[in-house]
Amino acid sequence: MRGELVALDLETTGLDPAHDDIIEIGAVRFEGNRIVDELAVLVKPTRPIPSIVTQLTGIAPEDVANAPPIAEALPQLTAFVGSAPWIAHNAAFDGAFLDRHRALTGNFRIDTFDLAPILLPQSTRYSLTSLTQLTGFEIESAHRALYDARATAHVYWKLWEKLLVLPVPIIMEMAAMARSSRWSLLPIFEAALNEHGVTAIPTQFERAFAAPTDIFDPPDLKSDQRQRQSSDQPISRETVRQLLGDNSPLAQVLPGFEKRNGQLDMASSIADAFNNAFHLLVEAGTGIGKSMGYLVPAALWAIQNQDCVVISTNTINLQEQLLNHDIPLLQSLFDTPVRAALLKGRSNYLCPRRLIEARRSLPSSSDEARMIAKLLVWLTESRSGDRSEINLRGSDEQFTWSRFSAEDSECGGHLCISAMQRVCPFHKAQQNAKNAHLVIINHALLMSNATSETAFLPSFSRIVIDEGHQLEEAITNALSTKLDQQGLERNLNEAARLIQSMENSLKSGAPAKYADRFASFAKDIYAALRDMRALTARLFGNCRHVLEEAAQHGDSYPIARLDSAVRSSSGFAQAQNTWGHLREFLDILAYKMKEAAALLRRLSAHPIPDSDSLLNGINRSADDLLSARQQLEAFFNAPDANTIYWINQGQYESDYISLHTAPLHVGSLLERSIWDQKASAVLTSATLQVNGSFEFIQQRLGAEIAGTLSVESPFNYRDSALVFIPSDMPEPVERDRYQQMVERGIIELAAALDGRTMVLFTSYAHLRQTAQVITPRLALGGIIVYDQSDGSSRQVLLEGFRTSEKAVLLGTKSFWEGVDIPGSALSALVIPRLPFQPPNDPIFAARSDYYADSFNIFALPDAVLRFRQGFGRLIRTQTDRGVVVVMDARIRTKRYGAAFMEALPDCTIQTSPLATLADTAVKWIKRTAN
Ligand code: SF4
Repeated sequence: MRGELVALDLETTGLDPAHDDIIEIGAVRFEGNRIVDELAVLVKPTRPIPSIVTQLTGIAPEDVANAPPIAEALPQLTAFVGSAPWIAHNAAFDGAFLDRHRALTGNFRIDTFDLAPILLPQSTRYSLTSLTQLTGFEIESAHRALYDARATAHVYWKLWEKLLVLPVPIIMEMAAMARSSRWSLLPIFEAALNEHGVTAIPTQFERAFAAPTDIFDPPDLKSDQRQRQSSDQPISRETVRQLLGDNSPLAQVLPGFEKRNGQLDMASSIADAFNNAFHLLVEAGTGIGKSMGYLVPAALWAIQNQDCVVISTNTINLQEQLLNHDIPLLQSLFDTPVRAALLKGRSNYLCPRRLIEARRSLPSSSDEARMIAKLLVWLTESRSGDRSEINLRGSDEQFTWSRFSAEDSECGGHLCISAMQRVCPFHKAQQNAKNAHLVIINHALLMSNATSETAFLPSFSRIVIDEGHQLEEAITNALSTKLDQQGLERNLNEAARLIQSMENSLKSGAPAKYADRFASFAKDIYAALRDMRALTARLFGNCRHVLEEAAQHGDSYPIARLDSAVRSSSGFAQAQNTWGHLREFLDILAYKMKEAAALLRRLSAHPIPDSDSLLNGINRSADDLLSARQQLEAFFNAPDANTIYWINQGQYESDYISLHTAPLHVGSLLERSIWDQKASAVLTSATLQVNGSFEFIQQRLGAEIAGTLSVESPFNYRDSALVFIPSDMPEPVERDRYQQMVERGIIELAAALDGRTMVLFTSYAHLRQTAQVITPRLALGGIIVYDQSDGSSRQVLLEGFRTSEKAVLLGTKSFWEGVDIPGSALSALVIPRLPFQPPNDPIFAARSDYYADSFNIFALPDAVLRFRQGFGRLIRTQTDRGVVVVMDARIRTKRYGAAFMEALPDCTIQTSPLATLADTAVKWIKRTAN
């Protein structure tokens, strides 16, 4: 849409349009990418401006003291906009404030926050600041109305240009979907078609991506097939050592390569394990070249035996490093190609059949239209079908994706694969894995392969599990479930949508007697669905009461673990009663959905529109209902002994209640699927031992039968790492004094080092409390604080910290591991509290119950392992230097403190007053740098 347009932005005293006031209006009129007029008006509010708003916008109470009230300011805006369409980023917010004052209600409004995710499906963020950066516009001062209005105008124009270059059939399909679903973006799509000379949306048009081969490329049929040797041929230990030894060809391709004895020991021990079919746990300290240490014997085994070796990791970062860096380097060691493939779970791939079928009928809701439009734009940019390349926002988009993903249920299998001309992305990924020597997967997929009825990994007998210290948690997460009211209602709405679509389809394609009969069948279902929605609301209301009765308050939100006391409470009995009623309805509904599917099959000879997609959708919906029914039945009536159950209240929305499950023990599962089944599994990590013993991890993972090997880091920690323990810190229980000293320590340290500091917290609440105090103080010295409390992703925060000249990074759980910032960008690591798990964490609490001496046998070793992980973030290369500050006095004062100290490598340790920290750190880094 072009012509005269107005972009606007409002600054307000808060987020509630019913009570908060507008304090600034900014608007720009623009034509094309040229701004022709501007308006900036400060407004005097009827309520005080909160200090957080002043901090964010720079608008202080004195700035608006003499400004016009809203009644005088708004007419200036309405005169400025006239009848032009207006655009805002998150127009719902600005619109709600304007609607309250009945301003600009008749103008067409465009939301760039709605448009951007469709036209930029691969962008990682859609905030105004991110979009301006992405589209090359420098925002002068974010959170001031005029600047944000200018930025919005620019972003809109870039989005409009992007829309215009899309293939016309795609714009037509988006317009047709918008028209049928009353999607508010219809005028934009119509305007874009107009630019292409299309003045009306035809009812019939040639669709882009109508055939599977239009969507995805055919498979690479050239790649060789593996022919597994009939018997295992042992690999030569000597060859492994030569490949990584003094004259390794790696020296030609890897600058700075040198023989590392620890790496040689690791690689040859893995060769022994593969040859002699035993399991091995390898703790490989930082700097020994762990990945090459296992890739070389794994590749040699796979090539020699034409076998597949699976490499399982926990993080995408490591998968990328293996595929893009380490495995290409391996090629220099072998005469034959080392073929590697990445395989993800089915839900990560788009199913072309489901997408094609869904597009045969027009979407019933604007949400569905939005998602299909986004997928179509994405397919013009990427032909992988891999979910990691599209940004799915929120549970609605994720739910819609699940309808188009290659999930097992209703997958057409071999017949469909050939009907889809073998372009199905999941099938292609599986084929690549079948022919690969090294198959890279993650821990979650490893587990779902083991627990699924049909294994989707190629058969394998040797596996390397890297990032092995995270295996228990990764499996716990993979096998955990969560159900909330919205999720259950979404299943009910989906069933209603499908029944409604079937009713319409039968009306136009089936004999009248069937259509009529189905209409009355549908009527009963709609009535049942109404009752079910009411029962669902009541069930979650009952759960809130259970929570109120039994809640253990953690640092931020209440949790009720369903132990025997909670299960025998009166609140729980009420919830069970409600569930009993809802279960009856769910059983009937799932049965009726199956009946509807059977009717569709019976009527297959009739020309019923969208019959195939309806059939698949109805079957899938019935399966979803039955799966929710099974989860809820276990939750309320038939708990499994190896499962933990709990109810949570939302961290930010107290009305939000969710029901959770997680496995109690994963060791037995690993025993069944890995230790008892595979010839050789090697589990490795930089931290597996607690105080020189593998016993804890072996016990947690059921890996008592595995051999062990410890390979020490080649780094000289005594020269590179100073562990500073403030001698005058109070214990964390002395809350106020402790907190003041934490804040003071971080501020003084970061100021002395010009940032370059990462702080690892054990809770969000503590992080937020600290961030609020230190952020403005450090800003005075030009030091930026990156912290998780602003909702930014881990990747964004790390990137900001790495690239800023002076920065401090505050992180919680996920930052204790896998952060790799070599060099001086990270010179100090602060650990405010020892990383004990919160006692009210339901998984931790349930697992603790299992031990008589849970502190010494479970909580302490678990915390020591985390502590070692955190410590490992500091020294990443031979030349790194830095300081670790442990601010938890318990490391000095408690007997168990020794376990943490003994877990550290041999570094320099200093215990001195906190006041000396900054000076000591500067001197240490200067001294060791010389
Ligand atoms: S084989 Fe399965 S995943 Fe692939 S296109 Fe067919 S239904 Fe979809």
